[in-house]
Formats: sequence, C-alpha cells, structure tokens
Amino acid sequence: MAARAMPYLDELNPEQRAAVEALDGPVLMLAGAGTGKTKALTTRIVHLLNTGRARPNEILAVTFTNKAAREMKHRVGRMMGEAVEGMPWLGTFHSICVKLLRRHAELVELNSNFTILDTDDQIRLLKQLIRAANIDDKRWPARALAGVIDHWKNRAWTPDNLPASEAHAYDGKGPALYRMYQTRLCELNAVDFGDLLMHMVTIFQAHDDVLKQYQRWFCYILVDEYQDTNVAQYLWLRLLAGGHQNICCVGDDDQSIYGWRGAEVGNILRFEKDFPGAHVVRLEQNYRSTAHILAAASGVIAGNKGRLGKELWTDAEGGEKVRLIGHWDGETEARWIGEEIEAMQYGTRGLQSYGLDKMAILVRASHQMRAFEDRFLSIGLPYRVIGGPRFYERLEIRDAMAYFRLVVSPSDDLAFERIVNTPKRGLGDKAQQKIQMAARENGVPLMQGARILLQNKGLTGKGATELTRLLDNLERWAMMTRARVIDAGEGEVIDDGGIEVGEPEVNHIELAQIMLDESGYTEMWQNDKSPDAQGRLENLKELVKALEQFENLSGFLEHVSLIMDNNSEDASEKVSIMTLHAAKGLEFPVVFLPGWEDGLFPSQRSMDESGQTGLEEERRLAYVGITRAEEVCTISFAGNRQVFGQWQSQLPSRFIDELPEAHVDVLTAPGLYGGNYGAAGMSAGIETRAAEADVYSSPGWRRMQARNQQRTVSKPKTNVIDVQATSAHTMGDRVFHQKFGYGAIVGVDGDKLEIEFEKAGLKKVIAKFITGADD
Ligand code: ATP
Ligand code: MG
Repeated sequence: MAARAMPYLDELNPEQRAAVEALDGPVLMLAGAGTGKTKALTTRIVHLLNTGRARPNEILAVTFTNKAAREMKHRVGRMMGEAVEGMPWLGTFHSICVKLLRRHAELVELNSNFTILDTDDQIRLLKQLIRAANIDDKRWPARALAGVIDHWKNRAWTPDNLPASEAHAYDGKGPALYRMYQTRLCELNAVDFGDLLMHMVTIFQAHDDVLKQYQRWFCYILVDEYQDTNVAQYLWLRLLAGGHQNICCVGDDDQSIYGWRGAEVGNILRFEKDFPGAHVVRLEQNYRSTAHILAAASGVIAGNKGRLGKELWTDAEGGEKVRLIGHWDGETEARWIGEEIEAMQYGTRGLQSYGLDKMAILVRASHQMRAFEDRFLSIGLPYRVIGGPRFYERLEIRDAMAYFRLVVSPSDDLAFERIVNTPKRGLGDKAQQKIQMAARENGVPLMQGARILLQNKGLTGKGATELTRLLDNLERWAMMTRARVIDAGEGEVIDDGGIEVGEPEVNHIELAQIMLDESGYTEMWQNDKSPDAQGRLENLKELVKALEQFENLSGFLEHVSLIMDNNSEDASEKVSIMTLHAAKGLEFPVVFLPGWEDGLFPSQRSMDESGQTGLEEERRLAYVGITRAEEVCTISFAGNRQVFGQWQSQLPSRFIDELPEAHVDVLTAPGLYGGNYGAAGMSAGIETRAAEADVYSSPGWRRMQARNQQRTVSKPKTNVIDVQATSAHTMGDRVFHQKFGYGAIVGVDGDKLEIEFEKAGLKKVIAKFITGADD
C-alpha cells in the first residue's frame, strides 16, 4: 500500500507525535489540561487508519460522553479528508458494552433484546423486593439500596464475589437483596446501567473463547479521560488489552472528579505495573489558555497533596488576568453575569466581542442554574443547559409546582394526578381509577370527583383518611392564597386595614413552604437516603427562593410556563450553562465560574468530612473549571445567599485564597461599593455591615484588595433594587413603580417603602418592585 501523506502529524509537537507514532504496545499519556491529549488521541486513530494498521471497526475508542464521541468521529473524518465509514466501536463505555452484551446476552442468562432500566424503574423494582422482604422502606429507602448496589457494580462485584466486608450493608440485608434483585432482573430480561459493564467483565472472565475473539478483533484500544474510569471499566480494559497490549490511555490525575461515583485515579498510577514497558508520554505545553489563566489554575491545584505533579507552560502571551468579583447575593451575581455576557456579545464597554456560543457558565451545583435561567429569560438572552434537565424540568420541581398549580386552579387534573399519591398516601392505581370514575360520572374535575367519592363512601380505610386530608389541605391552602388576593386587591399595596380579621397574613413564599412541608413532600426527600436526595432538597429551596421575584403564585406559574414554552432547540447561538462535571474535556473562550463560596464550592459535604479526600476532589474540580477557559475567566462569589427567606452570609471560597494574586484582577461589584447600591446601603443597617465584613473577612481577599487596583464596573442597566438593598433608598429619592408610576420615598420600613406617587397618591409598596427613576 502506498504511503499516504500525513499532514496531520505536522500539527503536533514532538511529544504528541511520539505518542501518535508509537502505535504498538502500551502507551500512557499523562498530562495536564489543554495539553492536547484528546487531540493526540484523535490523531492516533487517524494514523492507525492512514497507515493501514487497522480498519475502522478494529479500533476500540472510549470517550467520556456521547458528545465527545461524536466530536471525535467528526474530527477523524476531517483529518482523513474523507467520510470515515463507521467507527462502530468509538463511544462511551456504556454504549459499547450495550452492543457487546446484546451479542452475548445468553451467557448471563438474558435475551439479546433485554431492556435497560432507568433509575426510576430500578427504584420501583427494588421497592417491591424490599417490601416483599418485610423491610420498612421508610427507614431503609430503596434509593439507599440502589446506591449500595451501584457501588458494588462499579467494582464488578457480583452477588457471587461480594467481599465479606460488605456483609453489613443496608442493615445486613444488602447482599441477599442484591441477589434477589439480580434474579428478578434476569426474569424480566432487563439490566441496569451498572450491569452493562459488570456483565461484560463476567463474560470475559468466564469465557476465554469470547475474550480471545475480541482481543483479536480490537487490535487497538484508545481511552480518553482515563483518570475517571472505575474498577469495572478498568478490569474490562485490562482483559481486552491482555493479548496484544496495544492500549493507549490518556488522562490527568488532577482532573479526576468522579471519585464519588467509584472512579479510581489509582488506575492511572497502576498502568505501568499492569503493562510493563509502557511508553509514558508527558505533555507540558498548554495550547488552550492564556498564561494568567494557566497560572491561576496551577496555583489552585498546587494545594493538593500526593499529585504526580506536572509543569504546564504556554507561549500564549498577554491576555487578561483571571477576573474575580464579589456580589451582594446570588441574584445580583446572575444579573451582573447576564450584563457582562451582553456587553461581550455586542463588544460594548470596551470589551472584546464574542459570539454567545463562545461563552459558558459552569456551576458547582445544578440548583445554581435557576438564577441564571430566570435572569436570562427575562432579558431574552438565549441559553442552553448541557448535560441535564433544565431547572423547571426536574422531577422534584415539577412535583412541587403541581401543588402550586392545584391551589391556584383546583381543576388542574394533570397536577392532581401527579401529586395525589406523591408522597405515598396509599392511593394506588385502583383508588385513582375510582376518583377518575367519580369525576367523569359527575362531569367535574378530579379534585371534586374525589370529594364526591369520599362522600359516597366509595373509598375507605387509610386511603380515605389520607385523601380527605389532602383535599382539606388543598382547600385550606387555596383559601390562604385567596385571602392574600383580597389583601393585595390594590396591586402590591400593603394596606394593613385590608386584611380580614383573624386571617393570618401568609405571603405566597411562606405558603409555598407550608404546602411542601404539610403535604409531606419535603419529608419524603428528607427520608430518602439516596445520593441525589440532598440535591433535590436544595432544588426545592431554590424553587421557594425563585418565588421571591414574583408577587404571587399565579404570576410565578405564568413565568414558568413561558420558560417551558421557550424550550425549542435550534441551532442558533446560545450561552451554555452546565455543571463543572459536565464541562470536562470542553473548552470555551469565555468562562464564568459563579458561586465560589465555602459550603457551595467546596461543597459543605466535602468540608464536613474528616480528611482531605473530598476537599481535594473539589479542588480538582476548581482546576477543571478554570482550565476550560481560553481567554477570559471570571470567578465570582456572593456575600449573601437566601435560604427559605433567611439571609445567610457566605464566606468566599477557600479556593479564592489559593488563586495566585499576580494573576488575578479584582473587579468591583456595584452591589458592594459605590454605584447604585452604594455607600448609603452599607451604612444603613447592622445586618448590612455584618454581611460586608463577612464578604471581606477572608485573608486572601484582603490581601488582594490591598494590592490590586480596583476597577469600577459600570452600573447595571436595570437598577432593580432588591429587598436587601432597601436601605439604598434615601428619603426623598425619586423612584418608579410599574403600576403607580413615579413617586418620592417618604418612609422606609424594612422591605416596605412608603411612597408619595405623583398620580396614585400615598402607597406602601415592597421595595423590590421599585426601580430608580433615572433608569
Ligand atoms: P483536557 O485535559 O481539558 O481534556 P486535552 O489535553 O485533551 O485537555 P485538547 O482538548 O486535546 O487538550 O487540546 C486543547 C486545545 O489545544 C485544543 O483546542 C486543541 O486543538 C489545541 N491543540 C492541541 N495540540 C496542539 C498543537 N500541537 N498545536 C496547536 N494546538 C494544539
Ligand atoms: Mg481532553
């Protein structure tokens, strides 16, 4: 075969080139972020094809996400200068194992058309088994068992080879339930995600002929993001590469961020032992980021012990320092970032111009997304959430909103169906069918149908008691909203005289909390021991917080339906919002990293833990975050976050202290100095001063403050004044209210302002609905 031209090799540096050209034998490419590991891996595939070493279907290439797999196929095609017909074995561990397992399902007593259960199915199945075993699933929730089983599967521990050390799991009943679960899955001809890998390892271990066949078939194996493989994946790779040993793994120990999901960074360290004579390639030149960004990331990661230690350098000169900015609270942070993105989009305020698709916001916890989604929606900034449902599409949020919808419109049958047995009230399918019938026969909505059913004694026992309680609750809550509507009859005016005697004054935020608590919904998640329960509770808190931006529940529900409507996917340019975990391997010219506060990032859990393991994983996550940025990296934190209407002052993240000062530029937020939220706000209340002190109490922050020249950021376009900035209003200020127009402040009482409106006269209104008159 005539040698083909290899222009793709010219795009590589000598070290990359060595890794690409060392086609035979084990290769480990261990290098920091942005050094071109993925690029080298992709080029290696091209080189294998181009030199005729392998046909496309003989290459096994594993990527971390399906998105990364598509990207890699695309790049291979482009470098080959032709469409690569099929790279059937380029994909994620899971996607590859599904294909393999379908071919050999009978070896683990499955049919090749097995179904793959999602988490919900899995939980439902486990629940049945738990109940059948007479275990109280309130004390021992199914999700906890699911977590345990997942943990075992990640280690390729089948019921038969479970170590004795696991005997105590799930109150000592874990191992037996695990066996029952696997048997049940077999009967159902089903697998869960963890099975895909585990079954394949089992098959390879038990059937040498099958293993040998694939060892011959996959003559070359390539693995990206190797630092995040778990034990089962590692075993699978080791088995497959066991013959020819043509395996090339690339990774970065500093980017190992899935330890909580069973990934073992030790797999990298073990590579040279498992594959003696491995060719180890180190890359040190970073091609992605400017020197400042790189130095900031290196400074943070230096805080971790037990690293392999890598030097990174770049010849990208100039560039901005990493920008650091403190905000008053989460909403102010979202507003500022929204404005910054708009300014960059249009290249105003002297900022360089970037397309929206060149910018990304990377959050630590998914509940942080809500503030951005709301803000971007209200200013019409197109965004997309990557790697997960958008905030208002999450299960717990939809459940909670169903309660809200029902008190606002009791005839909302879909909402009723959703929550009638969530949390469990003993109203299963049969009871629900009876309710449906009663409603249909009487031509009324489900809620009313349920009442009729109860009156006619069509339902008895626990179900009847619980249903009565639910209906009573829903009616009582609805009355509470109505009382509020009467009270707020004159728009947002708070007129003490208008409240009915004996009627408790409950605003919609409190009411939402009451509904979630009294319905048992919050408790349901509190009792849930699964790993995602905490996140769901945080999302619920975030939902209640979102209500503060609205005057009542209906206004809020309307807003959300608009958001959901805006759901259409199109190819237009959008800002990306995603978690730091989902951002691995990606790069963006402009990156925003919000919420760098102790307790949020690093997470509270990692801080509470004894030892450094959790904290070090958080620090690696910080490193991943900063190194996604090519040109502009902005880290931010808020001095206050609101939880259940209570202000909580936040300390800047300890990682902020670890940023090397020489590479950081401290911006000044309008909410903290000068500007419109200004000095008046600062001096007005003790609370305010305490929060200010907290924001700047971290030593690193003070050091930076002292050394960096402060820059004033231009004030926000819409100067909506938040409740906490009430005191920024001074008596006599001219302000604007949507409904009542212009007026002057004549009195301040907490978050309420007394305003003499030019047309509407004297009114008491809530400060957050007021904007400065000059905006
Ligand atoms: P991460 O650890 O974040 O996954 P990585 O090591 O996989 O990073 P790549 O994504 O492969 O890094 O490369 C980072 C950027 O540098 C990409 O935009 C890539 O095109 C570019 N790049 C890689 N190698 C070179 C090179 N030799 N010359 C010029 N640009 C390069
Ligand atoms: Mg990469």
